[in-house]
Amino acid sequence: MQLKASKKKTKKETETLSNKKPEKLIDKKGIRLDGRKLDELRPVKMEVGVLPNADGSAYLEQGKNKILVGVYGPKEAHPRHIAQQDRAVIQCRYHMAPFSVDERKSPAPSRRDVELSKVIREALEPAIFLEYYPKTAIQVYIEILQADGGTRCAGITAASLALADAGIPMRDLVAACAAGKADGKLIVDLMDTEDKVGEADVPVAFMPNLNAITLLQMDGGLLVDEFENAVNMAIDGCKQLYNLQKEALKSKYVAVEEDEEE
Ligand code: ADP
Repeated sequence: MQLKASKKKTKKETETLSNKKPEKLIDKKGIRLDGRKLDELRPVKMEVGVLPNADGSAYLEQGKNKILVGVYGPKEAHPRHIAQQDRAVIQCRYHMAPFSVDERKSPAPSRRDVELSKVIREALEPAIFLEYYPKTAIQVYIEILQADGGTRCAGITAASLALADAGIPMRDLVAACAAGKADGKLIVDLMDTEDKVGEADVPVAFMPNLNAITLLQMDGGLLVDEFENAVNMAIDGCKQLYNLQKEALKSKYVAVEEDEEE
């Protein structure tokens, strides 16, 4: 049996792709275009507390992706009618900067921005003790400064760090990573060309301590056993990112302790 999901490309994407579509995504030795092995993540850099004016913040680089997240709250919900009597609401905005892709993107929110804001919010909500803060709002602003595939996952990983940095009580951190298929092989953490030229892309968000998936999507076509393997590869990627998230949080507090000792 084959699982299929829409892999429609816009006219602009198809035109750009036909200009730079590589013949092969993976060479005979199993090495990808950027030199990675099939199960290797892109180089990752994470830092928390980068925006002093926000209640919590994080900066993440994953390959060529550059993402900045600012969090405010919990604070009184505005407009008032969005407030819930028994829990906080999350207001999440994923936004791609006009200069984040090679052809200027309109600064107005696109349909894709709106969709990703929703799926990212839903991937974060299960991790947060929303019931501790009734009638309030927690605002999460995700700015994609530079995009190179997998920005929804990288956005979730960074947003979860910014929420923790804001001191918002959480059941677990959420780490997110995609796996997929290119040239008939399963790969992890797809970059832009692999995402667009490859056969499938399965983004997964995961809470490692609770062993729970909070986002699972698929774009493209996979056999059932390939799908299961891809999900497991993505979960492995999430676990690696989770360790880096914990290190990023700890390193901020070690720096604070050192400052206090001086
Ligand atoms: P994700 O970034 O989560 O993989 P998509 O699969 O929708 O989400 O997008 C894949 C990649 O396509 C993005 O990371 C980005 O590099 C590129 N992309 C998305 N929107 C645009 C756009 N408007 N112009 C050019 N490239 C884009």
